[in-house]
Amino acid sequence: MYNVPVSSVHSRGWRTQSMHELSITQSVLDIALRHATQAGARRITRLNLVIGELSSVVDDSVQFYWDIVSRETIAAGSELHFERTPGALRCLGCGHTFPLNGQDYACPACGEAQVVTAGGDDFRLESIEVE
Ligand SMILES: [Zn+2]
Repeated sequence: MYNVPVSSVHSRGWRTQSMHELSITQSVLDIALRHATQAGARRITRLNLVIGELSSVVDDSVQFYWDIVSRETIAAGSELHFERTPGALRCLGCGHTFPLNGQDYACPACGEAQVVTAGGDDFRLESIEVE
């Protein structure tokens, strides 16, 4: 068994964007199959996914669709592993970057509530393990 690194960002967006887990899951499968084929793999055993705290992707939904879309492929029965990354915000008022703390989006430095995401808003397939 060996590890095939993948560096494809599938989706980026913070809550405002409506994500459809089925199409996301399908694109994860497409990319995994492409890399597995390039690596000459017979079977995909595990997918390492990174999911940001601010990502709109729901891992349970991805898992649910995964079992359906991967059926009849060399990824059937493979395990999905989700690594969670913390969310970070940047204040538009003073430029301060701070970790997301619950539902409080106000800047701890100046109290400004106009913030943008500065990390943890993406969902990507990092690598796959194949045989
Ligand atoms: Zn600020």
